[in-house]
Amino acid sequence: MPFSFDLQHLAPGSAARRGTFHTPHGPVETPAFMPVGTQATIKGLTIDQVRSTGAQMILGNTYHLALRPGEEIVRDLGGLHRFMGWDGPILTDSGGFQLYSLAQNTKITEQAAVFRSHIDGSLLELSPERSIAIQEALGSDVAMVLDHVIALPAADEAIQDACQRTIRWASRCRAAAKSQNQAQFAIVQGGLNPELRVWCAAQLAALDFPGYAVGGLSVGEAPDEMYRVLDVVCPALPTNKPRYLMGVGTPQDLLEAIHRGIDLFDCVIPTRNGRNALAFTDSGPLRLRNAVHAKDDRPLEAGCPCLACRDSRAYLRHLFLADEMLGPILLTHHNLTYYQRLLAAARQAIAADAFTSFTAAKRAAWRSQVVA
Ligand SMILES: [Zn+2]
Repeated sequence: MPFSFDLQHLAPGSAARRGTFHTPHGPVETPAFMPVGTQATIKGLTIDQVRSTGAQMILGNTYHLALRPGEEIVRDLGGLHRFMGWDGPILTDSGGFQLYSLAQNTKITEQAAVFRSHIDGSLLELSPERSIAIQEALGSDVAMVLDHVIALPAADEAIQDACQRTIRWASRCRAAAKSQNQAQFAIVQGGLNPELRVWCAAQLAALDFPGYAVGGLSVGEAPDEMYRVLDVVCPALPTNKPRYLMGVGTPQDLLEAIHRGIDLFDCVIPTRNGRNALAFTDSGPLRLRNAVHAKDDRPLEAGCPCLACRDSRAYLRHLFLADEMLGPILLTHHNLTYYQRLLAAARQAIAADAFTSFTAAKRAAWRSQVVA
């Protein structure tokens, strides 16, 4: 397999790790953040702009791409890399999250999940085998196994049932793999139940996947509840495999999760918030629609190399108030650049044995924010 994970450095006083994940489309320096390209596009940005944020690896969505344009069209046009013009590593999700997010349109049996398309109402049957076949047709570097995500809070039996199905489906995904150029990551479920999480992690670790994800979090629980799950799950996962926390999170969440031993992230927070006029900065988030920015000549963040920071806060605010498409584009570019610079600084801090003081300084700066 053309995949390996080199663990280069462990931070003292923390479980933070500095590593390199090697894929057929190049290396990913970890910890790393993957921008979300649900429909084979990071909303609002050209692929060169995505690259210029410092992104190394991006995410595509199996469910959405299978419905539109269809995985066979993508495969016939040379695969997802060529289709969207991205030559770096790509991870595709399995569709499991849509079992949760589209739950009213989903029926789950042991064999498969059946969805009603949100586009035309047609039925899509997503079995573990079908999810892997779609992801192989898309040609992503990393495929996620199909997992059973349920809404929380839920009864213990329901969480346990979904967790056991997730393990059985992981085995079926693995048996269905035909591609040598795609690594499968297994997904630990188990809700907020620590015993179930540890049990699920151990079962999946025994199957020896090339990487592991922690799923079913950031679905409405408090940040501390998520951190407590990571406290027990990370030590139960193999140290020599990459660990991916799915769908998380805020800048604070990323540092807390890195501290607990997470290597990979994806989240819509920087892009979705950017489209809604919220910019992340080292002194906390700025809401560009607020009147306080109307005459402010400063950039969002001094020293930021993004496209938005060539302009003033006053100009960016004007774009949003005038409903101009450039506003969301520029703030998306800024927020993704902010996330990539944060992760690059975290990697540097881990390597320099300074991760603990780095996170303390970031936390203090974010806390000192005046909401603006
Ligand atoms: Zn910027």
